[in-house]
Amino acid sequence: MSLSNPWFVVALVGIVGWFHLKLVADFLNLSRLGNDVPEVMKDVVTPEDRERTIAYQSSVARLDVVEDGLTLAVTLGLWWSGAFGWLDARAASVGWGTIGNGLWLMGVLFAGSSVLGLPMDLWRTFGVETEFGFNNTSLRTFLMDRLKGLILAALLGLPLLALLLWLFEHSPLAALWSWLLVSVWGLLMTWLAPRFIMPLFHKFEPMPEGELRDAILKLAERLKFPVADISVIDGSRRSTKANAFFVGFGKTRRIALFDTLIQGHTTDEIVAVLAHEIGHAKLGHVPRQIILGLVLSGIMFALLHVGLHDQRLFSAFGVAHPSVAVGMVLFMIVYSPWSRLFDPLVSLLSRRHEFEADRFAAESVGSAAPLVSALKKLSHDHLAHLTPHPFYVWLHYSHPPLTERLSAMEKL
Ligand SMILES: [Zn+2]
Repeated sequence: MSLSNPWFVVALVGIVGWFHLKLVADFLNLSRLGNDVPEVMKDVVTPEDRERTIAYQSSVARLDVVEDGLTLAVTLGLWWSGAFGWLDARAASVGWGTIGNGLWLMGVLFAGSSVLGLPMDLWRTFGVETEFGFNNTSLRTFLMDRLKGLILAALLGLPLLALLLWLFEHSPLAALWSWLLVSVWGLLMTWLAPRFIMPLFHKFEPMPEGELRDAILKLAERLKFPVADISVIDGSRRSTKANAFFVGFGKTRRIALFDTLIQGHTTDEIVAVLAHEIGHAKLGHVPRQIILGLVLSGIMFALLHVGLHDQRLFSAFGVAHPSVAVGMVLFMIVYSPWSRLFDPLVSLLSRRHEFEADRFAAESVGSAAPLVSALKKLSHDHLAHLTPHPFYVWLHYSHPPLTERLSAMEKL
């Protein structure tokens, strides 16, 4: 471990730099909480709402800063105590074969990070979200969700990891094969998630006959967008926060709406929100985002190839006897803060898509008004930051800030 090792320097600058960048963004964002309510929001935000928004956003920021600080401390602690070298040596003596030993190592690290993350999750759900009246999750549901998540991660993640480890043990072109494998796996997951994974956590029920269902079907027909079925998700069992949701590939689509969205909005508003989602599908946004994702993961695997073949990556973390598994873990520690450099690229694309989908929605329902009022309600109900700092937006927002979307729609 020394400053003459480029991996050591790149890891240190990445990990510590990313922490500080986020910290600066958090403080800049907090400093704008006291700003006046934007003119366009004055009709829905009362002075009390403003006070509650300030309190809520401050609590969320406090939690984020503590969480980031803990992550930094644990990462540096593991790194500088030599824990990775020790763990790798332990893994080598497990006796499950190279792949089995590798899975043991990754499993131990994953389990450890899940346990360490649990108090923060509890604080978020039963502290902050409960205090502001958003949380409807019982402790039982919360724990069951975590348990199901762990089982799913094991069932879906371990076979993939085993294949990746096998590839990197056996093939000089492992990075290329892994890239293809992970891409196919990702597509498979997008297909599996709404059909088999989400129903494990949420109840999907067919939307009852009535005005809303008719209005949605009429919109779909007008937009030549074949809908297979419309269901309602019991989001309210966990949170009062509303969300739209939209799934399906190919010829027929499934639309799923959170009950919380239905409760708080008029039929016109819900139809406009759906028109926005249909806009994403009609305008070909999904394939473009998938392609960008593929390019980024291709870059990652190419760099992983470089890392695994460079002894200095291992010595930067005090690992004397390199294995593929520990190499992958170390590489991800080095790479993940730097991968955030691509975030602005990803959000640039997604911001453009949001504006396009907003315009599509306004044109399909003949007016921007229902989407405008739905977005204002959502922002109000979620106690969203009304005047986020541009640096924070640049770093974290996948969607344009509300005021930008509203003023773009005003011009339509
Ligand atoms: Zn959107």
